[in-house]
Amino acid sequence: MWTELVDLHSHSTFSDGAQSVAEMAKRASENGVKVWSLTDHDTDAGWQQGMTAAENHGMRFIPGVEITCAMAIAADPEVLAKNETTQPHSWHLLAYFPTGGSEELSEWLAEQKDARLPRMKAMLAKLAEHGHEISIEEVSKYAEGSLGRPHLARVMIEKGIVESFQEAFDQWIGDDGPAFAPRPLPSIEEAVEIVKRSNGITSLAHPVYYGIATSELVEYLQGVGVDAIEAFHRSHTSSYRLELMSSGMDVTVGGDSHGTEHNPSPGKMVVPLKLLHPLLRPE
Ligand SMILES: [Zn+2]
Ligand SMILES: [Zn+2]
Repeated sequence: MWTELVDLHSHSTFSDGAQSVAEMAKRASENGVKVWSLTDHDTDAGWQQGMTAAENHGMRFIPGVEITCAMAIAADPEVLAKNETTQPHSWHLLAYFPTGGSEELSEWLAEQKDARLPRMKAMLAKLAEHGHEISIEEVSKYAEGSLGRPHLARVMIEKGIVESFQEAFDQWIGDDGPAFAPRPLPSIEEAVEIVKRSNGITSLAHPVYYGIATSELVEYLQGVGVDAIEAFHRSHTSSYRLELMSSGMDVTVGGDSHGTEHNPSPGKMVVPLKLLHPLLRPE
């Protein structure tokens, strides 16, 4: 039996989505979703609103998060070419907490944000090498909570090093710039461990983007204790979906809606009930 009642992957304005949590819940419900998860990037900040909104629409709410992790296996250029995807920079691990998460998890997610401090320091050191001295205090006075490149760009403008944000990124701190330093990311193993300790379930999001042959990928995921694989994702072809369905792993289903024109609403995704992870099925 197949079901259209489940969508376990969606984003709101708590990360890079265009709509509020309440609006996403409404759209999910209008599409007939009965089991809905909000999976904003690297944050649990929308869970309370998600819970309330889902209750209002009579949906089961599963608190979720999409954790940005370091790549566990380097992409195979041949597989990337075959799947017509570009070089990945990270892996996304979906985590679900049917019983509600934990204090430890919230703290860990917040710590990942704080990991931005060493990264910012590395960028400041590179700028100093080029004769532009900026202190961490100068940057953090612009940041509430998470410290990012836009804050640094503001200081660079203030100090007359550049004239605009665009110039700061183009000349210095963009991904290919001489003062760029990458954001440190947790490993898949570390993320799996913290999720398990918080009674959660993990599923590797949109595996098509990582450029790994399915057999190798599944062997790795099973080895590190990932519980499921997002076989049903908006971007997967039916043959790729089929390949993952017969991989022996439980599956999850994700519309990955960001509330944008291109993909406005959660829902309208079909998945075979018996392959769906047992704790994520409709009642
Ligand atoms: Zn993703
Ligand atoms: Zn996503």
